[in-house]
Amino acid sequence: MLSIIAGLALSAQIYTHQPSVYVRPPYRVPSSSKYLPDHRRNGKELPNTQTTLSLSADSNITLKAGDNRVTNNLLSSAVKIINQTSLSILSKYAGSTPTQAVNIILFSSPQTYGNALIQAGIPADDIAAYTANTGGITIGSNIWIPLYNLKDISQLANVMTHELTHVTFNQIGSGDKLPTWINEGAAWRDGLLAEQQLDSLATSLEMLTEQRGVLQAVTSGQLLPLTATEQDILNANYNVEYEDFMAVESLVKQYGADKFIAFLDAAKSNQQDADEAFQTTYKIRMVDFQNTFLKSLQSEAK
Ligand SMILES: [Zn+2]
Repeated sequence: MLSIIAGLALSAQIYTHQPSVYVRPPYRVPSSSKYLPDHRRNGKELPNTQTTLSLSADSNITLKAGDNRVTNNLLSSAVKIINQTSLSILSKYAGSTPTQAVNIILFSSPQTYGNALIQAGIPADDIAAYTANTGGITIGSNIWIPLYNLKDISQLANVMTHELTHVTFNQIGSGDKLPTWINEGAAWRDGLLAEQQLDSLATSLEMLTEQRGVLQAVTSGQLLPLTATEQDILNANYNVEYEDFMAVESLVKQYGADKFIAFLDAAKSNQQDADEAFQTTYKIRMVDFQNTFLKSLQSEAK
């Protein structure tokens, strides 16, 4: 919390130079930690928490203080990031911005965040893992973010943009249809783009570290397929979501950003499932793309 408040002093300065465009890195969970899913399918809605402060961003998004250590200044900085960074990334790379109400609640401590998670029905045994390791959680149109896990404002930009990507997909009806690798890969891509706009050097370094982890998993034979189960992902010793990001990046590099938006559009229709939408858009089967991608990682790791 202290570090992010210190980071805020810098945020005005950061915004005086216009961010360079282009891509990458996310919020990180501590590299030694286990991965926890940040969005849950068909979960119970997050309950309304007692909040004292709230501020509205554009596009139906409201930022709220989850406890009284989250200041109005911090909410203002978060609103500014959403208006100046997140929304344009979502329009360009996720195909739209949220059209219905979104609540983002920020928590300053493991205690206040843990209490809120207990009220949301997260099992008591899991609370310690959630408060220690997650960058945020999204259910439906509600996003909760533990600030104390973030180093600075650029990581907050990453987490908010990442979670808003999930919300955007949920609101257009494709969230539950997309395979995890596309849902998470796209959210990572958007989050990294946002972080890069605020701190491109730190973002590049994070990306190198994450990429090294994925390539080491290839050489040690521990790389999971893009269709890995949640249990496999929980037990992995590298960041499987970064592998998802690399797959989405590879897809977008090969076929272009417009095609990816066209695929997302096709996937939200009731007539097609994600596999059909993929084949209609890319003229190849999703499983063939997945296999080709894994092979390309194997040659990269040699
Ligand atoms: Zn996510």
